[in-house]
Amino acid sequence: KRAKTTGATELYQPRALDIARQQFTIETCLRRAIEAERLTLAYQPVIELRTGRVCGFEALARWREGGVDIPPSTFIPVAEESGLVLPLGRWALAEAMRTLGSWDRRAGAPMPVSMAVNVSAIQVARDDVPAMLEDAIRAHKVAPERIALELTESAIVADPDRAAKAMDAVRSIGATIALDDFGTGYSNLAYLQRLPIDVLKIDKSFVTGMLGDRDKVAIVRAILSLAQALGLGTTAEGVETPELSQTLAALGCTLAQGYHYAAPLDADAAFAYWSRNNSA
Ligand code: C2E
Ligand code: CA
Ligand code: CA
Ligand code: CA
Repeated sequence: KRAKTTGATELYQPRALDIARQQFTIETCLRRAIEAERLTLAYQPVIELRTGRVCGFEALARWREGGVDIPPSTFIPVAEESGLVLPLGRWALAEAMRTLGSWDRRAGAPMPVSMAVNVSAIQVARDDVPAMLEDAIRAHKVAPERIALELTESAIVADPDRAAKAMDAVRSIGATIALDDFGTGYSNLAYLQRLPIDVLKIDKSFVTGMLGDRDKVAIVRAILSLAQALGLGTTAEGVETPELSQTLAALGCTLAQGYHYAAPLDADAAFAYWSRNNSA
């Protein structure tokens, strides 16, 4: 009898409701995980293509709940819709600086690497990102020049004036700004000239499968020449093979990250990766 009722309910239950319920569950768990500081960061090495040296890391949020890894593609959208990305983002910035400080102590001197932290458009719109950057810098005593904030075009499109103010303030603190997922948004390109952007990150959707795809090569070339003309650095994401690494280097891309070099690593493994690379 019960099965029948469930079946009937299911029939009338819009799928949207299921999704809303699932989202609510994730949101509740995520809130607790953030409060209890149970999220972690993984650090993916960023490689200078010309030299093969590790020149930085990108900090990426990780959430393990009940023995299961919940991917950022699941929890970051929920965090953005619920506003939890504000405490999450604040935590991520401080945690990344804390790690950098602890690496410096282990290395016995400031490590010559930068640390990139992802900043959501919601944070730019609703939080004081420059102030929290200053707090994290002060608390963990890292040189601002070593910090890069990764913003997406959506952060700019939502409120260009506010974004511009925040970016100018971040720059005057001494940190740099990378435009993430470049090429996937739909903003006009005029802002590239007006805003204080240092690096374009070429989205992995253009890099993956690029070698067998003339259109992708054309897009990557266009982004690289645009960046060169504007004096910006370039980072290719999703570099999974040596062939891609070589091709991107030949095309003049400056930095790369991807499984060919290393996946995102925990703090200890990332430090070990840097030590090996640095003494090679
Ligand atoms: P993203 O910023 O574009 O980060 C790059 C993503 O590509 C990461 O996924 C990384 O693990 C993955 N990746 C790295 N190398 C390769 C490769 O060679 N091949 C492929 N296929 N993928 C590669 P991840 O860690 O799952 O993060 C997904 C997205 O979640 C990030 O994309 C970023 O938008 C967001 N995210 C992660 N952590 C944070 C955070 O602390 N704050 C905010 N606001 N967003 C975050
Ligand atoms: Ca990123
Ligand atoms: Ca990206
Ligand atoms: Ca991406």
